[in-house]
Amino acid sequence: MALAGGGKLGQKVSVGYCKLCNEYKKLVKAHIIPQSFHLSTFDNGEMPRIKGDKYNNKRSSTGIYDYMLCSDCESIFSPWDDYAYDFLTSPIPQDAIIGCDNISYAYQVNNFNYEKLKLFFLSFLWRASVTQHPCFNNIQLGKYEKILRKMILTKDADFSNEFTIIISKLLSTVSGYMFPVREKIKGINFYRFWIGEFQFLIKVDQRSCPKVFLDCELSDARPLLILLNDFNTSGMKKIMIETLKKANKNIVGS
Ligand SMILES: [Zn+2]
Repeated sequence: MALAGGGKLGQKVSVGYCKLCNEYKKLVKAHIIPQSFHLSTFDNGEMPRIKGDKYNNKRSSTGIYDYMLCSDCESIFSPWDDYAYDFLTSPIPQDAIIGCDNISYAYQVNNFNYEKLKLFFLSFLWRASVTQHPCFNNIQLGKYEKILRKMILTKDADFSNEFTIIISKLLSTVSGYMFPVREKIKGINFYRFWIGEFQFLIKVDQRSCPKVFLDCELSDARPLLILLNDFNTSGMKKIMIETLKKANKNIVGS
């Protein structure tokens, strides 16, 4: 099932203005959620489901894409996408797990490529913002869209401190993904993404991250803590249901 073309659904646009370089060029199929992440959400060989509004529970073999970038710009993302996928899907070393009483709260990664990982998340957010695909209608970045574009073009992960990333991984296997939503946590604006077993919170706000996240913000100054959550007992199931309700409420299909 092809979910997107440029402009309206199913309408392929092969030439137009590239959203990144702004040049009038041939446009290529650009995945909003990198293809590797999409394929990783396959459930026992079955195509992943997309949860939200009119695509609710539809299966997709190809993922979500849009014709919005030229091939030169599309290739900029590949090293970041590849690194993030390999990094996040690597087995968790048992001695890196932090927890007590047989409950795992997080795991710590001491060595990682901060720039590549942060640029992956920032470029992912930007792609979700500029696409016309209705799955991402909830992403409205306003002035932050231009800031992200500049960070991508200059490959500068720290050009602006408005963006902070918190990564969570579910201990249970969850297939598919759902529409991202914007939400406030302690009054601060975040976007929440679910892709398979991963949940990413991206702060889009000039104000500092709420204290509860201070130890697990993606930073080049300390090891990275990736939160671990049991889907059934950690409250994540409730959060996912609330996210789905919010996504359905906010989406305006095209
Ligand atoms: Zn371009």
